[in-house]
Amino acid sequence: MIFERKGFTPVECDAPLPCPFCGADAAFHCLKDDIVWSSATLVADRFWFDCSKCHAGAGCHGKTAQQAAEQWNRRPVREEA
Ligand SMILES: [Zn+2]
Repeated sequence: MIFERKGFTPVECDAPLPCPFCGADAAFHCLKDDIVWSSATLVADRFWFDCSKCHAGAGCHGKTAQQAAEQWNRRPVREEA
């Protein structure tokens, strides 16, 4: 699955599962810590998913989109605040 965000280079990763709490679709997010414009698009270095409806998140960021997808798709037994 390919995710695009305006201004960022598209990235590919596993499709995120629906929210474990409300069943809504996951929303993709990415950020670049150091804002360096190398060209027209930024290469993000932080990725995460959260719920588009209840905003539940995995509680951490991934260094890659794939890592973020794995964090989101991992269903924790116990949720940490
Ligand atoms: Zn939700």
